Formats: sequence, C-alpha cells, structure tokens
Amino acid sequence: MSSKMIDGTAIADRVRKEVTAEVAALTTPPGLATVLVGDDPASAIYVRNKRKRCIEAGMHDLHRHLPADITQDAAADVIDELAVDPAVTGILLQLPLPPHLDAAALIDRIPPHKDVDGLTEASAGRLALGRPGLRPCTPAGVLILLDESGTELAGANAVVVGRSDLVGKPMAHLLLQRDATVTVCHSRTRDLQDICGRADVLVVAAGVPELIEADAVKTGATVIDVGIHRTPQGLCGDVHSAVRGVAGALTPVPGGVGPMTIAMLLRNTVTAAAMRATAPATKGR
Ligand code: NAP
Repeated sequence: MSSKMIDGTAIADRVRKEVTAEVAALTTPPGLATVLVGDDPASAIYVRNKRKRCIEAGMHDLHRHLPADITQDAAADVIDELAVDPAVTGILLQLPLPPHLDAAALIDRIPPHKDVDGLTEASAGRLALGRPGLRPCTPAGVLILLDESGTELAGANAVVVGRSDLVGKPMAHLLLQRDATVTVCHSRTRDLQDICGRADVLVVAAGVPELIEADAVKTGATVIDVGIHRTPQGLCGDVHSAVRGVAGALTPVPGGVGPMTIAMLLRNTVTAAAMRATAPATKGR
C-alpha cells in the first residue's frame, strides 16, 4: 500500500494566502514582535523565516535581538514594553532561551491576547478548559493537516507520542476537543509500539529519529510526523520511512508539519488583532 502524502507546504501556502488577504482588509496591519535572545544559529534561522513570512503577509515586523547575557529583569522589561506597545499585536519569544533565564516566567509576562505562540499559563488553561484563546502553532497546524487529509477525528483512537507543553499536551487537548479518544505516550510508556499500533490517528512528537517503525502502525492510519532531524543522510522525522507502505496518509519530512507552524503563527497574529479589540485597555496586558 502506498500512503497518501499530506502536502504541508501546499496547505501552508494556502493558509498564508488567506492570512495575507485578511491583513489587507484591516485598516491597521498587525505587528508581530519576535524576541531572539543570544546567537543560537538554529533559533536565528527560525526567527528570520518567521519575520520574512510576517512581512510577506503585509504585517509589521517588530524584531528585538537581545544579548545572550541579558539579565532576567532586563528581558522582563523588554516583554513588558512590548506588552503595552499598541503597535505590537503579537509577541513571540523564541525558545530555547539561555539557561540562566527563567523561560516560563518570561512567557507569562506576555498578555494572553498577544500570546501568538499560545504558551502562556493563561492560554494553556483556556485550551485545557475548552475556552477560546490562542493555540500553540504546531499542534494547531497538525489539526488542519488532519482535516485536510479527510481524517475523521470524532470517535477515532488518537495516540500522541510526546507530552511537551509545546506540542504533545496541547495536541492531546485539541484532539480531545474534536471528540477523539486520546492516549498520550512519553518516555516512560510501556509497550509504545503496541499502543501506537491501535491508533487510527498517530501524532509523533518525541524528538527521536525514526522511533516509530512500520510494524507499529495500523494499516490505513493517518500518521503525522512532527519530528525533524538533520542526519548525515539528510533530514528525517520521528517516523521511519517504511511507514509509507502502511499508513493511509502521512506527512513528509520536510514539507509536512514544519511549514504549517509558521503559517499558524501568522494566523494567530490575525486572531490576536481581533482579540485586541476586546482585551482590557489597561496597560495593554
Ligand atoms: P520535547 O520537549 O523534547 O518533548 C519530547 C517528548 O517526547 C517528551 O514528552 C518525551 O517524554 C517524549 N519522548 C522522548 N523519547 C521518547 C520515547 N523513546 N518514547 C516515547 N516518548 C518519548 O520535544 P518537542 O518540543 O515536543 O518536539 C518534539 C519533536 O518535534 C522534535 O524533533 C522537534 O524538533 C520537533 N518539532 C517540530 C516542529 C515543527 O514545526 N516541525 C515544531 C516543534 C517541534 P518525557 O516527557 O517522558 O521526557
């Protein structure tokens, strides 16, 4: 059996076109503030791509590059400034931060209506309670890929491998809200391959190259590979390439989940612009 490939690049292009049209219809274009701390080359590339796509969509690019040795207080001051700046619609703090900084404390200074990465305590709480709010970009993008692939979620056995705050946990909540029966696996899970083998929908975000082998996938399942790894042989995901012969539908690496993450950041920034209208006026927070 040959799996249908879920074309994340094409779907992300379409989302970005929709966002560009929505931005053009606004009287004031939204402003996305990206905050990069230090000079980690991978983070610098991610931020550069986000800024490029933000400009292409007609948004204002409001970038802050902070020194690697910035203090917690000074970094907090920058976030607070952006929080009250009326030109800033969304704030993205690029992770990971240098180890001396408390990332969670800085993230929680972002007002929920500017939290375009959906990572604040407030946004996570809203998601867990099924209330409206900004959702983390990668799992929100995965949900669109699942819908585009025609995968039925209501009543499906969905397995999420990984329980990070960035991907696994919000993914599980989003699937639960769509009436899937959700199992979350992690590094202490016993019989991982067995559990995955019962999934109609399998989302893998473990950060382990080719963790999921072909015999751990149910024939015809929809498989979303969030992982991305650079190896001497090229890029690979958390799902072994042999799964292509078993899954009904599958995301490629690259060209699957990756492009959706930036598209959803732009989508969230437009949503944040609409939320601003109803956000508390005091100090922009
Ligand atoms: P993370 O914070 O390192 O979390 C990994 C999760 O996987 C943890 O919950 C961990 O369990 C679990 N895990 C690790 N080894 C496992 C194993 N052998 N069996 C079962 N579970 C295992 O990573 P993340 O931020 O969620 O990202 C996951 C992957 O997605 C990475 O490869 C990352 O590069 C990629 N990613 C891609 C995008 C994109 O846009 N394409 C976006 C975000 C992330 P414990 O909790 O027990 O440690």
